[in-house]
Amino acid sequence: MKLLIQNAYIVTADEKNTVIPDGSLLAEDGVIVRVGEHFEAEADKMLDAGGMTLMPGLINAHTHIGMTLMRGAADDVELHHWLNDHIFPIEDRLDTEVVYASSLLGMCEMIAGGVTTFADMYFFSEGTIRAAQEIGMRADIGRCIVGDGEEGQKRIDETVELFRRYQSDRIHVRLAPHAIYSCPAETLKKCVSVSGKLGTGLHIHLDETKKEHEDCLREHGVTPTAYLHSLGCLSRQTLLAHGVWLTEEDADVIAETGAAAAHCPTSNLKLASGIAPVRMLREKGVTVALGSDGVASNNRQSLFRDMTLAALLQKGVCLDATALNARETIRMATADGARALGRDDIGVLAPGRKADMILVDQSGIHQQPINDRISNLVYATENTDVAVTIIDGRIVFEKGEYRTVDAERVLAQAETARDRIIGGA
Ligand SMILES: [Zn+2]
Repeated sequence: MKLLIQNAYIVTADEKNTVIPDGSLLAEDGVIVRVGEHFEAEADKMLDAGGMTLMPGLINAHTHIGMTLMRGAADDVELHHWLNDHIFPIEDRLDTEVVYASSLLGMCEMIAGGVTTFADMYFFSEGTIRAAQEIGMRADIGRCIVGDGEEGQKRIDETVELFRRYQSDRIHVRLAPHAIYSCPAETLKKCVSVSGKLGTGLHIHLDETKKEHEDCLREHGVTPTAYLHSLGCLSRQTLLAHGVWLTEEDADVIAETGAAAAHCPTSNLKLASGIAPVRMLREKGVTVALGSDGVASNNRQSLFRDMTLAALLQKGVCLDATALNARETIRMATADGARALGRDDIGVLAPGRKADMILVDQSGIHQQPINDRISNLVYATENTDVAVTIIDGRIVFEKGEYRTVDAERVLAQAETARDRIIGGA
């Protein structure tokens, strides 16, 4: 199956941030074989981009997509109260079917907003995997691990089973210990050992709140990062969500070990956790990706909005308009996201990479006049500007229509599942 896209403004997101104003791209069996200035080629399907912007699909490096049904269910409350009195009681009522319905709804929102790959940490992961397979998304799945002794072991065993059953090109499975305060050292060490045996990575929340940072200093005498490092948890295959309270020494350790961070600006603001030191991390050589987090702490799966916020926040906290520029921000949501997930086969439009890409229509009134397309992608693009989303060379979303799932069924399933876990609005 050959797919040829012509008449596109191509943003490759490669190391030189190469753009091709009148470009063509040819993909064969889901892999990009040629990208360059306008060319002709034989293909099974031709797409005339009509001047739209072709860029790599966005990579959402941290979410809990199975939480999508909780959108707006517990807003404007303090974190501890939010978790204990709102989120946990709802989560007690989850099952695989509910997580499937919730995940599929969230994935529809993601592909309509240009996200082609996501890293997830949640429960009843088989529901999320089933939804990803159905809609055709690329996913990095972590079954959330909490607890000590038998409880922790049971969840690790479940992860191993998920890995055996689903690890593949499109679905990656990794160990996902929730956080240092919900997993004792013994469980964290087991996660490291099992991930080593499977050859997969870790995904963990780290240094999200001031409380986590200070509790760790008090209990272990070191920062959360140093504590994780002492347990052997940091490596090139480790994905650290948040990192709001990281110190410069922590950043040095993370850079040395090659671990990556997933910055979740909206969630950190909404839960009043703070603002991650993204510029400092990048300057130290840490790979920083971008994440939405679950909709219970973001309300949207919109990486375009999170890109805007990420860039603005760094400028604001650093009192420096150059702290994070548009080109760097695009790379966080594409090439750096791929690196953070340990994948060198996505995130850039180049021969040999997977044909995961999106066409963004920049002709809307809110984008005019176009003086700088890349600047507009970060500061002026809405999710609704995404015209086409392609994963593995297959069109999954085109001009408002879902190609792999029936949106009406997805909505009906989601409504039924919501009534089961939350009840009427
Ligand atoms: Zn999270």
